Amino acid sequence: MKQRSAIAVDFGASKIRVALVSPKGKITKQTSEETDKNGKNGTAITIQIAGLIKEVMSGADPKDMAGIGIASIGPLHYQRGGPVSSPNIPYSFVPLVKPLEKKFRTSVSLLNDANAAVLAEKHFGAGKNLENLVYITLSTGIGGGAIVNGDLLLGKSGNAAEVGHIVIDTKYDILCSCGKGKGHWEGMSSGSNIPRFFEVWAKKNNKRTLHYKTVKDIFVAARRNNKIALKFIDELAKVNAHAISSVIVAYDPQLITLGGSVTLKNKDFIVSGIKKYVDHYLTLPRIQATSLGDSIGILGAAAAVFKKNRGG
Ligand SMILES: [Zn+2]
Repeated sequence: MKQRSAIAVDFGASKIRVALVSPKGKITKQTSEETDKNGKNGTAITIQIAGLIKEVMSGADPKDMAGIGIASIGPLHYQRGGPVSSPNIPYSFVPLVKPLEKKFRTSVSLLNDANAAVLAEKHFGAGKNLENLVYITLSTGIGGGAIVNGDLLLGKSGNAAEVGHIVIDTKYDILCSCGKGKGHWEGMSSGSNIPRFFEVWAKKNNKRTLHYKTVKDIFVAARRNNKIALKFIDELAKVNAHAISSVIVAYDPQLITLGGSVTLKNKDFIVSGIKKYVDHYLTLPRIQATSLGDSIGILGAAAAVFKKNRGG
């Protein structure tokens, strides 16, 4: 019998990607579009995703597929079946599970993107055969997903391991982009916040001569051996290491993989920086960049479908 593919949806704030994924994790067909932010309400996105699914299916019967998996921006509302008040899109709610189940007459599995990613790591990546692992994305925001004793941690509404908002700093007093607290990891170390952290750090250290608008500018300067950029990246490494130290004691993982654009473009600085400053209270897990690159979300959405079908 031919093994059935999953229909995988990676719903991000800027892009929606839809693919057919084989049980071995091979992407056989895919398409993507910029996320529609000009609709009247969240249904605009539901319609957009349905259109992309139809496109990759190109006439095939949805009943011949293993199901639909969605890796979505958070925070999720499991009971309602979609993300609510997500900070990076202009809709209060995007209905996903019910309308897509109805339209395609197949089951829909919904996970937040970082939870989907850790599932991808276990099914298709470095976490195969491991029961305890954590995935962290350092991207526009910071998110995490954890598998403990073989179980994906979900929490009451699907947002467990939202480690981007753990408090890791009391020195710089930086308000997080979530607006809910100061010293959160994401407020200092995500792609959208690193330049602001640089500014605060430079002011505190009387290094006001330089201004960097983007993360890329800072890392380019560091690669050119600019001393101030290198010093700041060392401070950033301490911040990341504080956070990873907390992640280690919270979940006791065997493996931590890191992904997201900030990591993937600067693996050398990010991974070695964390290893340099991480606490050794518990035995250190392996810490490495993910090998699944930016396909980790789509692979996680597919893994959610295969996991559900196996009843695991
Ligand atoms: Zn926060």
